[in-house]
Amino acid sequence: MNIALIAHDQMKKELVNFVLAYKPIFEEHTLYGTGTTGKIIMEKVGLPVQRFQSGPLGGDQQIGAMIAQNDMDIVIFFRDPLTAQPHEPDVSALLRLCDVYKIPLATNIAAAEVLIHGLDRGDLQWRELIDKE
Ligand code: PGA
Repeated sequence: MNIALIAHDQMKKELVNFVLAYKPIFEEHTLYGTGTTGKIIMEKVGLPVQRFQSGPLGGDQQIGAMIAQNDMDIVIFFRDPLTAQPHEPDVSALLRLCDVYKIPLATNIAAAEVLIHGLDRGDLQWRELIDKE
């Protein structure tokens, strides 16, 4: 499965710890990330991440483009709900596309835990049946 990992600056540490905690699950999948998030995951967790631009420079939109092609299976996006983001329209667009394409999305660690356990249990295998063309 293709998994997108994104975290706003105040949430990056939490995402790193989350990916570390579930490294044995994550390493069975293909990871994508916005620029800085991807770099930190690679450095701190030691898993390969295909990186896009940094979020404010278009990274969220690049991940959105993958969703629009139905090439992204899961989005884990630790948003900072307490800080205004310069690229808020991009963030909203990404979340909207997850709903358009019915992509499982977690925007905080509590939902991400449920999602990752579901992934491990095979709950998301329906994604492999979707015609991705
Ligand atoms: P970053 O982007 O991983 O490059 O920091 C994340 C974001 O703010 O959307």
